[in-house]
Amino acid sequence: MRAMVLEKMGSPLVLKEVPSPIPKQNEVEIEVLACAVCRTDLHIVDGELPAPQLPLILGHQIVGRVKSPHSKFQQGDLVGVPWLGKSCGHCYYCTQKQENLCDTPTFTGYTVNGGFAEVVVAHEDYIFPIPKGYDPIQAAPLLCAGMIGYRSLQKVRDAKTIGFYGFGSAAHLLIQVAKHRNQKIYAFTKEGDTKGQKEAMQRGATWAGSSTEMPPEPLDGAIIFAPVGSLIPQALRALRKGGKVVCAGIHMSDIPSFPYDILWGERSIESVANLTRKDGEEFLTLAPKIPIVTEVTTYPLEKANEALDDLREGRISETAVITI
Ligand SMILES: [Zn+2]
Ligand SMILES: [Zn+2]
Repeated sequence: MRAMVLEKMGSPLVLKEVPSPIPKQNEVEIEVLACAVCRTDLHIVDGELPAPQLPLILGHQIVGRVKSPHSKFQQGDLVGVPWLGKSCGHCYYCTQKQENLCDTPTFTGYTVNGGFAEVVVAHEDYIFPIPKGYDPIQAAPLLCAGMIGYRSLQKVRDAKTIGFYGFGSAAHLLIQVAKHRNQKIYAFTKEGDTKGQKEAMQRGATWAGSSTEMPPEPLDGAIIFAPVGSLIPQALRALRKGGKVVCAGIHMSDIPSFPYDILWGERSIESVANLTRKDGEEFLTLAPKIPIVTEVTTYPLEKANEALDDLREGRISETAVITI
């Protein structure tokens, strides 16, 4: 099969002909149709996460068709493969309904090969049927930006006003959920990014401004999508007493020191790590009801490097999706 392979950290992916993966027991063989690109893919390539074993096929927002008959799925079923490839089922966290924190997890496109390829294998208990009404390309961003974003939004479920720091792929999906729940979104972008601020307003934000600005009213919660540690004290300053800052990304630059009084007043900071299958199921049940609309820019498999570069340089506001 053809695949885009990471052979050396920090280097572009290489288009290669590699053997198709052979499904082990409880694994499903899936013909990949689309795979959305995530900021985590950049963090892996750029060496900002612990180095994976190479060579590696990236990609953890996979939508494809079940290739061969299987006990749990019909041949041809449209399924999604997310970041959580498998959890152990017996560690402390797995037994406490926190499989997202499993001590020995498998992550798609990181500890096992992912979806920048024609075929992928995935564990039957960790893949999701794609809801009706979504085609593979539209559905792909739901698998990580959507699901892990949803977990982040659940952390501020009761907030009436929420600041989004960074307004990319996940924010585009989550503002639709927030509006559905009558939560008001305040969009914070890079200083001077008036285009991004205008876009956030068009997508239904109540207010948009630069991340260094204060919102017109103190916020109940904030979600930080951008991998920028200095946003934490900025977001804390925007919160009312008792408010919460949620860090949605897997990697962030160092957090500068800040005075205790911006945390005082029972403000809190929490990170979101990975997802549970329950997050995925809940989100995919909710998505078609709203219905969540995804906006994508597609790239053929061999242009995966272009997709990564466009995301890194902030050249696209839609989600990059590799089509196969
Ligand atoms: Zn991701
Ligand atoms: Zn575990």
